[in-house]
Amino acid sequence: MSADSSHPGPAIQGRQSRRDFLKVGAAGLAGASLAAPVAAQLPGLRSATPRELQDLVGDGRRRRILLKGGVVLSLDPRVGDFEKADVLIEGKKISAVRPNISAPNAQVIDATNRIVMPGFVDTHRHMWQGFLRNVLPDGSLEDYRNVVQRTFGAKMVPDDVYAADLISALGAIDSGVTCILDWSHIQNSPAHSDACIKGLQESGVRAVFAYGAGQNENGRVMEIPTAKYPGDIGRLRKQYFSSDDQLVTLYLAALGGTPEATLSQFKAAREVGARITIHVGVGEFGRNALLEKLDAEKGLKDDTTYIHCCTLNDTEWKLIRDTGGTVSIASYVETLMGHGNPPVQKAIDTGIRPSLSVDVETSVPNDFFTQMRTVFSLQKNEVWARRLAGDKNPPKFLTVREVLEFATIEGARANGLDKKIGSLTPGKDADVIMLRTDTLNVMPMNNAVGAVVTSMTAHNVDTVLIAGKIMKQNGRLVGVDMNRIARLGREAQARNYKNANVPDKRV
Ligand SMILES: [Zn+2]
Repeated sequence: MSADSSHPGPAIQGRQSRRDFLKVGAAGLAGASLAAPVAAQLPGLRSATPRELQDLVGDGRRRRILLKGGVVLSLDPRVGDFEKADVLIEGKKISAVRPNISAPNAQVIDATNRIVMPGFVDTHRHMWQGFLRNVLPDGSLEDYRNVVQRTFGAKMVPDDVYAADLISALGAIDSGVTCILDWSHIQNSPAHSDACIKGLQESGVRAVFAYGAGQNENGRVMEIPTAKYPGDIGRLRKQYFSSDDQLVTLYLAALGGTPEATLSQFKAAREVGARITIHVGVGEFGRNALLEKLDAEKGLKDDTTYIHCCTLNDTEWKLIRDTGGTVSIASYVETLMGHGNPPVQKAIDTGIRPSLSVDVETSVPNDFFTQMRTVFSLQKNEVWARRLAGDKNPPKFLTVREVLEFATIEGARANGLDKKIGSLTPGKDADVIMLRTDTLNVMPMNNAVGAVVTSMTAHNVDTVLIAGKIMKQNGRLVGVDMNRIARLGREAQARNYKNANVPDKRV
């Protein structure tokens, strides 16, 4: 992304004088060379970083953006929904959500024929596969291990994972995913970690970098000589994540394995105050009662997200609930690849509200509309099947609103960010999307939540803001040099195919 990515562009409508426009443009230029002259105008803010300066207009006031006249789904019951209302953003944060807000000097973005809602939150995606999209459309989990992990992954160099993370992140933003957990098990060296973090930071997405192990040809990844997993998490905490009040935060992606190995990974995370994410309950192997064994050693806490959970036993489900853990269901890939039945109903029965995740773009589309529709249809199908089988006390049907909550606020909770994002609540960071309702797949709109969950695609994602910064507007990413991104993708792809000795063919 080029340095002027926060520039609002000429398309912003409304009551903005040319003078204000120029001020905002100057503040939006994040280059370090501009930091000094702009800071000089800011009494008391001389040490502000370039990123902090992006929230300010030239005279030191916080930048204000008013999203005007949209259908607002706040996803916060205390705020409610509105047929027509405004969302005021000041600097990084949402400052008001209500009808008829008057905000002099704000940039006004017309939200007519738009649904305004919090951005989607993905709780598990292996973003190092960003240039391997659709490489394995017909594969099982075993094929995935052999092709994606042990063939392509084993040969990835830092430049490859930088390109992959950047492409995956920009694709997420483009489809309305404003926060994403990068489950990054490609850490064959510290340079790989640096490259992934660089890609995430450059994209402007809100991300959780979940530091994982590496990849090699035989799958015994703890034997990779250059990998420093999990110990390098200490360096990462110091070098990149000394504060949690930043756009990219830190988790540990636990490899699992024996209870002893898993506990030592958990310990490495907790020593540096990083939350944990781990795949459990996957296929036959997932019936190993790992969570019971970890619990026996008091290893389960409320800092952990459990992914898939398809073949966990009932005791393990209760342990997740009773220890305050969160759950990520990647239902689409689970149905494709043999993880086991996506445990949507199981989670609900246990009293756990799951979050959603794309997992692998090698087989799965990168948007959240697919994720929402998959959990919705799976849960309803399960209830219908039980009714047809004569069940006199079947579970309730999931509603589209519940699915939308899974895709937003529950994602924020699993990513450790529910105090900051996941709903349009005044005081939270402004991670906001505007979805078009005047397109041929939705118009004329009858039910706002229904439109999002049942009818829309990434094509409807019109405007995206992350921490108050405009990332996409009028259907186009702002400040992204697409030629450069495409070139980075092609170069990484060609290099990785060559290093992995895979014939470079498309059909
Ligand atoms: Zn995964």
